[in-house]
Amino acid sequence: MRLSNYFTPTLRETPAEAEVVSHKLMLRAGMIRKSAAGIYSYLPLGLKVIQKVEQIVRKYMNEYGAVELLMPAVCSADLWRESGRWADYGKELLRIKDRHGRDFCIGPTHEEVITDIVRNSVKSYKQLPLNLYQIQTKFRDEVRPRFGLMRGREFIMKDAYSFDINDKAAEKSYKQMHAAYCKIFESCNLKYKVVEADSGAIGGSFSHEFMVLADTGEDFVISCNSCDYSANMEKAVTADNYAKDNEKILPSQQVKTPGQKTVEDVANFLDVNINKIVKTLILKTDDDFVALMVRGDHEANLVKLKNYLDVVNVDFASEKEIEEITGGAMGFSGPVNLPLPIYADNAVKYIKNFVVGGNAKDVHLKNVNIGEDFTVKQFGDFRTAEPGDECPKCGKGTYVITKGIEVGHIFKLGTKYSESMNATYLDKDGKQKHMIMGCYGIGIGRTAAAAIEQNHDDAGIIWPPQLAPFEVVVVPVNTNDENVVNVAETIYLKLLKKGVDVVIDDRDERAGVKFNDADLIGYPLRINVGKKTLKEGNIEIFIRKDKELISVKREDSVNKTL
Ligand code: ATP
Ligand code: MG
Ligand code: MG
Ligand code: MG
Repeated sequence: MRLSNYFTPTLRETPAEAEVVSHKLMLRAGMIRKSAAGIYSYLPLGLKVIQKVEQIVRKYMNEYGAVELLMPAVCSADLWRESGRWADYGKELLRIKDRHGRDFCIGPTHEEVITDIVRNSVKSYKQLPLNLYQIQTKFRDEVRPRFGLMRGREFIMKDAYSFDINDKAAEKSYKQMHAAYCKIFESCNLKYKVVEADSGAIGGSFSHEFMVLADTGEDFVISCNSCDYSANMEKAVTADNYAKDNEKILPSQQVKTPGQKTVEDVANFLDVNINKIVKTLILKTDDDFVALMVRGDHEANLVKLKNYLDVVNVDFASEKEIEEITGGAMGFSGPVNLPLPIYADNAVKYIKNFVVGGNAKDVHLKNVNIGEDFTVKQFGDFRTAEPGDECPKCGKGTYVITKGIEVGHIFKLGTKYSESMNATYLDKDGKQKHMIMGCYGIGIGRTAAAAIEQNHDDAGIIWPPQLAPFEVVVVPVNTNDENVVNVAETIYLKLLKKGVDVVIDDRDERAGVKFNDADLIGYPLRINVGKKTLKEGNIEIFIRKDKELISVKREDSVNKTL
């Protein structure tokens, strides 16, 4: 490739829209451009990086037994109604109508579509196990799209779905994917941690997240300084509470005054799993409940709850107000990311016009500064893990909290979709059984962004060679010197022939401009062909990572590069 006819619109200034380093550098290096909030174009260099991540993902998905297909981006609402998610998914789902008034959505994930395909074609145990994956553009109408490709609304995901005959087989599939993911993120040269996670809105029996450790991450990773325990914030809270607090206070045993509803009542009323409700923020006034957060369709649930709980003198927070309260970090599918004290403080501040009475300080809310008029009576199961807390697994070590970027997520789904959508197979014994499913996602763009978060300096990106848009750039330093140009061309062509992903910066630009661009874009190696060094029979190889410049004999240049 020749930069003279390529498209690398680099920027000298950092665009004001960018907060985190990966977003800044992707814009500056001419890799992406914003089209609308959370919606980006991938420019040639950015696209190349995305394709490299995709190739790594494909390699290991295939190696670990998954088979690629491609499903539609536009999905019929009928399938989503069958699974129940048309009602449950909430505002992240972009719903559209066709000319006949029929409902569709742009797929944010594809459990329904794949389950439909498999239930129609797989009839016998002999056709299982099956693991199908795609790499596709998804859409989620995120409350707060930000950080470029890290949290887009339109983004590329690899999603895989496994189908098995029983739990044991499903766990084997899960382990396969776990292993594939480790290979994938190792190949991307990322420092990551596998953490226990809550299955969240997708539901299911267990799951793990792959977290790239970075200060700009929006997730919290809790790990023990003594044993191998590590979990995300939400899961650690649960572990903490279920291991210890829940022996003392179960939802059904929580303070209840006559006529009032418990968390369990609310769960029954909404017909949701108690675990969805225990994550609900329920503040209790002397006479009333105030529910701020319910998993699933937040607003619909609030409306229902308002009537059910017969709340009178309390205003429900609007979406916007909740965003203000939570800093927008939680979204509406679950209050997850913020340490609770920040949240509770703000919530208490916000709900000024009633009295919350009851539970002792620090029982459900840690470090909450409860004012004269405010105490928290009932808060669901919502205590947050904190640094220094005792590890629930080993009981010896204490929690350390770091920030992470969720680049991958694996779930054992169980029969959630196969039951609701009736995906069955005929077993050996002639019995009709539900398939056991798993699903497995990787954010392709987010992985590329995470790699930048971990590999950059003041001058720009430092790509690991596996992800670099080009592995080598050849720079003719003096473009008006025929010899320089010829030697640079020769080296470039030789490297091409050897299969190196190389580019030549043959633009009519000053050397300084070319060097700055090369540092910004982050090619792992730069070969300088300059008049002066060439006179001595040498060329220079600049190693981006170590900022090391080595001089080699001109005839050795290709071999040294390889
Ligand atoms: P998050 O907690 O960051 O909102 P999620 O848990 O909702 O992510 P999953 O449903 O587990 O995401 O999707 C699988 C993967 O897709 C995630 O691990 C992440 O890498 C990627 N992903 C999810 N949402 C986005 C987004 N808005 N922009 C870019 N990548 C995303
Ligand atoms: Mg999400
Ligand atoms: Mg998540
Ligand atoms: Mg996830």
